Amino acid sequence: MIELKGIDKIYNYKKDNEFQALYNVDLHIDKGEMVAIMGRSGAGKSTLLHVLGFVDTFEAGEYYLEGHQVKDFGEAKRAQIRNEKFGIIMQDFALVDNFSVMENVMLPVDFSKKKGREKKARVKEALKSVGIEDLAYKKVSKLSGGQKQRVAIARAIVNNPSVILADEPTGSLDTKTADEIMSVFKQLNQDDKTIIIITHDINIAKQCERIVEINDGRIAE
Ligand code: ADP
Ligand code: MG
Repeated sequence: MIELKGIDKIYNYKKDNEFQALYNVDLHIDKGEMVAIMGRSGAGKSTLLHVLGFVDTFEAGEYYLEGHQVKDFGEAKRAQIRNEKFGIIMQDFALVDNFSVMENVMLPVDFSKKKGREKKARVKEALKSVGIEDLAYKKVSKLSGGQKQRVAIARAIVNNPSVILADEPTGSLDTKTADEIMSVFKQLNQDDKTIIIITHDINIAKQCERIVEINDGRIAE
């Protein structure tokens, strides 16, 4: 489903401060896999996730998504695919604190041309699948870390993506809460979603089917 070949990511390309964050990255991910990407801080994990999820571009190499060369897609097509195919959970939750849970999860739904009632039903379904339907009208600023992470997951799955990309989703959680969040991902994986989780924690990585290691921008499987 996902195939990277020889990907280089260079920040500030051709400027004085250019910095290469990914070197010749090859990565193959099958539909339905649950993969951990592991590496130290600064190894290039977030960069790789951003490239995978069309959040950022790359300077060399090829990315095939379901057999289609990503370079061939225009900006509008990329945005459409990002919104429909990928559910992305950023490192710091990236929630709007003074919005309710419902309002946060509704954010990506507004891109599509759904009716109000249908949107609400989709949000409720997403909340239910991460076990927080009773928090729908609570303000995000009032929630615990684990609850916030569930909101971030609900927002990532509300458009029913086939791939979920999560950047250190358990990074700021205690072990028990982290295991609960991992159970949510495992359930989503059983529901046929491809899951890619970034972590620097071996105990989290071990709960995935496969571990890909990244060191100084290079894959070392
Ligand atoms: P990780 O998520 O593994 O901690 P990142 O992918 O965030 O690592 O960063 C990899 C390297 O790229 C780091 O050295 C970081 O400083 C650098 N980097 C990340 N984002 C940028 C950016 N926007 N501009 C320049 N360098 C960056
Ligand atoms: Mg990171």
